[in-house]
Amino acid sequence: MSVAGGLARAAGNAVDAGCESLQVFTSNARGWAPPPVDPEGDERFRAALAGAGLGPLFVHAPYLVNFASASPVTRERSREVVAATLAKAAAIGAAGVVVHAGAALASGRAAGLATTREALLPLAHGLAGRDGPDLVLELTAGTRGALAARFEEMAELLAACDHHPRLTVCMDTCHAQAAGYDLSDPIGATKALDELFATLGGRVVLVHANDSRDPPGAGRDRHCPIGTGTIGDQGFAAVLAHPGLATLPVITETTGDPVQMATDITRLRRLRPPGGRPG
Ligand SMILES: [Zn+2]
Repeated sequence: MSVAGGLARAAGNAVDAGCESLQVFTSNARGWAPPPVDPEGDERFRAALAGAGLGPLFVHAPYLVNFASASPVTRERSREVVAATLAKAAAIGAAGVVVHAGAALASGRAAGLATTREALLPLAHGLAGRDGPDLVLELTAGTRGALAARFEEMAELLAACDHHPRLTVCMDTCHAQAAGYDLSDPIGATKALDELFATLGGRVVLVHANDSRDPPGAGRDRHCPIGTGTIGDQGFAAVLAHPGLATLPVITETTGDPVQMATDITRLRRLRPPGGRPG
């Protein structure tokens, strides 16, 4: 949900679009600026979400974040903006801050894992022992240098971070399709999710439901509205029916357009098995 016009409006917009759970950016998605400090606004937003029965809430960190970058400047900026986003997320009652598992382009995988550990462990330690957001690492689309596009690569990343309990995982259907899991085929989708939960077990706390413009394994991250891409209605029906998703929030990020968002949510709700939370 866009927070253009302030967080205050996002809760009402989410209700209008038919949301049950919610993900927001709290700062420019394509910039390094930290979220604005606004304790009163944060409190109002929290109250509005509670009043509307919306939750859980996730905050997506800016896309530029890359702890596997060879550039110390990029890594430090990443650390600063994620730390600030975690603080904002705590203030608005979010369950987690979603960060893309990075890409090690120049330095290679081993160095990328090492610098990611170096950045994530202190952030995760800072969350330990208190309520508040987890750091949610999102599986990526498998573009060049991707640290964690395949599920076993994410397992390796978590192991590199000592399996810190405050590090959890988000699976994005478009990214998984791009990374070579064939979600367009119901049998393939069930097999992929079996593998996801076998590999990453209880770490998975969030699913991003986005259709994909590209065939499985294309390594391209191009979202499109639910049912209009290569995953299709049959793929999403199989994904949503998987027992691993029974209690997980599913968030769509196909577009910023509220009308399209409402259409996507209606479509997902129609495809999910009976027994989910009422709209
Ligand atoms: Zn995503």
